[in-house]
Amino acid sequence: REFLQRRQRNGAGAGAGPIAPGSLVVLAGPTAVGKGTVAGHIRAHHPDVLLSVSATTRSPRPGEIDGTTYFFVSDEQFDRMIADGEFLEWATVHNSHRYGTPRGPIEAALARGRSVLLEIDLQGARQVRAAFPAARLVFLLPPSWEELVRRLVGRGTEDEEERERRLSTAKVELAAQDEFDYKVVNSDVETAAQEVVQLMAVSRA
Ligand code: 5GP
Repeated sequence: REFLQRRQRNGAGAGAGPIAPGSLVVLAGPTAVGKGTVAGHIRAHHPDVLLSVSATTRSPRPGEIDGTTYFFVSDEQFDRMIADGEFLEWATVHNSHRYGTPRGPIEAALARGRSVLLEIDLQGARQVRAAFPAARLVFLLPPSWEELVRRLVGRGTEDEEERERRLSTAKVELAAQDEFDYKVVNSDVETAAQEVVQLMAVSRA
């Protein structure tokens, strides 16, 4: 928190420092806040950071690629992965599908001193904190509730019922924001991504 305050005094444009080796950073936040876009921006500009690819039981959206966006698996495959201890954490998100973080690539990356970014939900963030107390938890905030609803409706990937479900989860997630080490407001993707990278520069797992 002290770092964030100092950084804010320095202004949002302060250049990103080098990423500390072996940082484990969790990026969480409500639906449609832009976690995926911010994480994608970091992947594009910081190939040294491993962006974890989760497994999920939900179906791919148009344009999503198996093995890159997610590993799209069946319920049976997901059950098997749980039984085999393959997940660092997993959760049922929005009361519908299951999502989980494969443990192997993350442990291997951290062991080699590579930094890792996880883009997961609140339940997952809590599990990671329990498993890796040194992990740094970042909560991505929308500029306002109205803007969050606008982004969700605007992306048009969910029907009305699914949107309602996601907004009700969003309220629960927003209420938990003070559990996080840092909060970053996503008004502008590039600025938000730079702020997350700066946090990675100071956090070590
Ligand atoms: P979406 O279906 O929109 O891609 O993702 C829905 C939610 O699942 C998002 O909040 C996302 O952060 C979360 N999520 C994605 N992967 C994981 C994961 O591996 N573990 C957990 N706990 N949540 C995840």
